[in-house]
Amino acid sequence: RPLVALRGLAKRYATGTLALTGIDLDILPGDFVALLGPSGCGKSTLLRILAGLSGPTGGTIDWPSAAHDAAGDPQRDIGFVFQEPTLMPWATVMRNVTLPLELAGVKRSEAEDRAAEWLARVELKGFEKAYPRALSGGMRMRVSIARALVTRPRLLLMDEPFAALDEITRFRLNNDLLQLWEAERFTVVFVTHSVFESVFLAQRIVVMAPRPGRIAEEIAVTAPTP
Ligand code: ADP
Ligand code: ADP
Repeated sequence: RPLVALRGLAKRYATGTLALTGIDLDILPGDFVALLGPSGCGKSTLLRILAGLSGPTGGTIDWPSAAHDAAGDPQRDIGFVFQEPTLMPWATVMRNVTLPLELAGVKRSEAEDRAAEWLARVELKGFEKAYPRALSGGMRMRVSIARALVTRPRLLLMDEPFAALDEITRFRLNNDLLQLWEAERFTVVFVTHSVFESVFLAQRIVVMAPRPGRIAEEIAVTAPTP
């Protein structure tokens, strides 16, 4: 059963731009999907629709196994990682990661235990008391990843998360993200315009094309036999 199923999805902005058309896509639990394509092909629009930040203007989006709230909206339960880590500068690394848990009603001591676990998983043990400005760009990105995963969301959306980092840092983060995914098997949709990143990370590469934004083809990445 797919986690989310898109059928004939379309998005036309008020400006008239047809940002997406005819999007048919199933995302299965545990998938690592790359959305690959040039600027303007609708990758960010698709992520925002998955996140519920923007509504489609055509087609359907279904969350077959999600609970629905009183208004009938699916509980999407999403983690989002942006290119610019949106950490709170006045709060420690620990507090940045515990906050989503506390907002979900988890008590402080348990939130700190869980945050410490995720900070260790992203190799930030020992930096709990640091403030974001004291960290490098790559480390801030690791904090963002821990913060997005600490609530164990059903779906992790990443919008060109590493694009602003230098090449080596970017490679290390790709490597670490892949190891984390292999250990935890969360579901990821990862937007990129890098073929290298797509092939390195994803099992499924959804290639998109612009004007109008659409799916051009899907490529399944075959893992090398060990
Ligand atoms: P990508 O992430 O692949 O670069 P986007 O989803 O950002 O693509 O944009 C797809 C198309 O929709 C582009 O032509 C872009 O200019 C347009 N667009 C994006 N956001 C808006 C918006 N809020 N209002 C109007 N047009 C938009
Ligand atoms: P909607 O509320 O229709 O789902 P968004 O919330 O994504 O769409 O749009 C936010 C606003 O961004 C739009 O109403 C528009 O005024 C503005 N915008 C217009 N053109 C663009 C563009 N090319 N890229 C990004 N934002 C745009």
